[in-house]
Amino acid sequence: MGGTFDPVHHGHLVAASEVQAQFDLDEVIFVPTGQPWQKTDRKVSAPEDRYLMTVIATASNPHFSVSRVDVERGGTTYTVDTLHDLRNAFPDAELFFITGADALQQILSWRQAEELFSLAHFVGVTRPGYNLDDTHLPNGSVSLIDVPAMAISSTACRERVASGLPVWYLVPDGVVQYISKRDLYRNA
Ligand code: ATP
Ligand code: MG
Repeated sequence: MGGTFDPVHHGHLVAASEVQAQFDLDEVIFVPTGQPWQKTDRKVSAPEDRYLMTVIATASNPHFSVSRVDVERGGTTYTVDTLHDLRNAFPDAELFFITGADALQQILSWRQAEELFSLAHFVGVTRPGYNLDDTHLPNGSVSLIDVPAMAISSTACRERVASGLPVWYLVPDGVVQYISKRDLYRNA
């Protein structure tokens, strides 16, 4: 599951947990991006902060882990590169790529879109406010699944912190504390 995770929130975690259970996956690997290509117009928090928040949020789940491939590659992150790196790291694995309904709508605009579907099976999950549909995507390349609706976005979490509102229960407790310790999002 790729993402900016700025910050990681319970929408990400519920989606990952639900896909893990429904597909009986051995592991869900969260992959925080370097600089996301769609977000070059806004300041994204330091990769190390986003990586550490993702580690804090996932540490207690034996099915969850975090990969540094995109953070280490640096520069702009393209999912096609992420999937090549994961394929090299796990040559025998069957790879799935989890995306929310909003990201799924844009997938054909991603770099090397046709190749993406040969590198992984895509799983699109429901997200409040977006339609989940695969009519624009190649037949059989994507599974669509319902996950418990969590109307949470990282953007809303950052705005809440900037306005002095709490993010308790939107993000894991350790992430609330990390945001405060590192003074993130206060001037967003
Ligand atoms: P931002 O507002 O900064 O874009 P975000 O909340 O959309 O943050 P991302 O890191 O952009 O989080 O998303 C990573 C992946 O998780 C994407 O595939 C996105 O569609 C999915 N996702 C994010 N929030 C939810 C949610 N509440 N329910 C289901 N999927 C989600
Ligand atoms: Mg997003």
